[in-house]
Amino acid sequence: MSTYIGIDVGGTNLKAGLVSEDGALLATKKMPLGVWESAEVFAKTLVRLARELLAEYGMSEDSIEAIGVGIPGLVDSAKGIINYTPNIPMREVPITALMQREWDIPIYLGNDANCAALGEYYAGAGRGARSLIVVTLGTGIGSGIVVGGAIHEGFNGAGGEAGHMAIVLGGELCNCGRRGCWERYASATALVRLTKRVMDENPQSLMWKLCGEGEKFHVSGKTAFAAARKGDAAAQAACDEYLDYLAAGVANLVNILQPEMIAIGGGVSNEEDASLLLPLRERVAEVDMARNGAKERTRIVKAQLGNDAGIIGAALLYRSAKMKEERDGVV
Ligand SMILES: [Zn+2]
Repeated sequence: MSTYIGIDVGGTNLKAGLVSEDGALLATKKMPLGVWESAEVFAKTLVRLARELLAEYGMSEDSIEAIGVGIPGLVDSAKGIINYTPNIPMREVPITALMQREWDIPIYLGNDANCAALGEYYAGAGRGARSLIVVTLGTGIGSGIVVGGAIHEGFNGAGGEAGHMAIVLGGELCNCGRRGCWERYASATALVRLTKRVMDENPQSLMWKLCGEGEKFHVSGKTAFAAARKGDAAAQAACDEYLDYLAAGVANLVNILQPEMIAIGGGVSNEEDASLLLPLRERVAEVDMARNGAKERTRIVKAQLGNDAGIIGAALLYRSAKMKEERDGVV
């Protein structure tokens, strides 16, 4: 069976994984991103990480078919260029060519959220589905769309950004510069902010007790859900408000694209089904246009691969490129 390397570039760390063609993660290695020097040094670091991973696993370079790299930013996957990264100073960097100077091997490039979606499609929650959208609830909302085995990234690579659809016109200001973006209301960060607001309005709420005391006092994305399960009315109101926002965006995705499946990932998705998934499905079902007659509905499920989705999807970018080539005649 052929083997591939996937590299997930994060804000502070690089993570590489050895991945089989069916998406099994065989080994991983982590490395700090380090102080930024130049694109050339960055490319060399990525190749060094891949080589060290191989050496630790006892594999030779010629047993690797391709490398895939997931970037937190805007990429031109066809040209192998990183156009823009908000947290790393890279503009118009021909990363594929720079890496191939060090190691002459096919190298594929993708956006990190799109890689996570691709990983879930081939090796996680989306196995067997023809179309999948992955929504990851974290600091922001990451999302990726996969149709027929290929990432849908838009004609210019900037598509699939569901976190930045406005759900409240004139609403809260987002990091992207727009107001009312979905991630300002339904990310894990937004849930914590909402929880704190409801706690301030309800000094008697059980949520205060669940947050600990003194230096251990800590409001998290779990606080409202945990207190709601114990019957706290204010916490239930916070959860309901959060679920309304989450469902608004999911329902928009369903009604525009009617994907076979939507997988929800990120820490918030670990809540019990009765707290998150079931009420989310109920809310979406009420407004799903398919309720007016279509026999089949979009399935809303939990993502399965956790933080590994990005590495696995990066390693499988070659499959997305191949499917696109077969479909469109271009890479
Ligand atoms: Zn935004």
